[in-house]
Amino acid sequence: MNRIDPKLTATLRQPAELVERGLAPAAGLADLEKVAARYAIAVTPEIAALIDPNDPADPIARQFIPSADELVVQPGENADPIGDDAHSPVAGIVHRYPDRVLFKLVHVCAVYCRFCFRREMVGPGKATALSEDAYRAALDYIRSHPEIWEVILTGGDPLMLSPRRLAEIMADLAGIDHVKIVRIHTRVPVADPARVSAEMIAALRIAGATTWIAVHANHPRELSAVARAACARLTDAGIPLVSQSVLLRGVNDDAVTLEALMRAFVECRIKPYYLHHGDLAPGTAHLRTTIEQGQELMRTLRGRVSGLCQPDYVLDIPGGHGKAPIGPNYLSQPNSRERELSAATQYRIVDYCGDVHLYPPKP
Ligand code: SF4
Repeated sequence: MNRIDPKLTATLRQPAELVERGLAPAAGLADLEKVAARYAIAVTPEIAALIDPNDPADPIARQFIPSADELVVQPGENADPIGDDAHSPVAGIVHRYPDRVLFKLVHVCAVYCRFCFRREMVGPGKATALSEDAYRAALDYIRSHPEIWEVILTGGDPLMLSPRRLAEIMADLAGIDHVKIVRIHTRVPVADPARVSAEMIAALRIAGATTWIAVHANHPRELSAVARAACARLTDAGIPLVSQSVLLRGVNDDAVTLEALMRAFVECRIKPYYLHHGDLAPGTAHLRTTIEQGQELMRTLRGRVSGLCQPDYVLDIPGGHGKAPIGPNYLSQPNSRERELSAATQYRIVDYCGDVHLYPPKP
């Protein structure tokens, strides 16, 4: 029987391993060790297999292989870029909007993304999971706030928990009358698809609440055959999927790639949901685009793909003020020349080709 080289089936966690596998240049090892001392590294075999080691600009490598650029912290970058701490009434809970909370159960992930907005909180060496007491206190908080309709399990990656533990957590949440939706944010279907087992799916389906899963992927290559199969197992089990992606320079900041990503989501029965503008996480400036670039991409996307494929382009306002849609605006006030054309004109509106129309049209 053929035996698989264990080096090819293990998650890569050390810069030296990345160099040995040809995924990082040996000349940069000293800098990568400095990055590794601050931020976690993990590249699963499934993700490593997607990287072309001969492409110095590989879009998968840019997301997971550390870079010396991460040592450069720009003004305005912040360890808590979206202001979770300002809205955390008890450990593990972020209550920013009235009807929903984030419930941060674990601080570990299958892979560590170089642009992660929680990069200061996730990874080995950080607290790995809430203590039992903290978990119970978080549940008590949810129980005592009847306005909480939706609980969003995030982290870290909640699907790093065992199916048995997940089943307990889902049952605890479903046992709270006012909690109707449990949403799980995860990269596991892409980064470690085998974890999406029958046991895990059974744990995620609960009576008393509806489970939604937000799958995080940023490049169409991440939706590999095994990732697609994992997503299909979830949707076949009746669990609706939405997407979340981050707009990243050198990864998906061109219309062709973004279009292919959104089409791939829809083909996998994943409704495109969020395209996040890159957060001001420390050492991530090399991966951020400008907002103008993001708006231009959204304009282009509108002209190229169906409404099913359109995500919301959003920015988490630093300081904890929540998400704001920042996509292009198609509706505006008419200018004076346009007003003169018809007294009825109230708005100017731009179509998907960029052409301007007045509304209501001239009688
Ligand atoms: S999977 Fe999510 S939480 Fe984990 S490193 Fe990536 S972006 Fe951060």
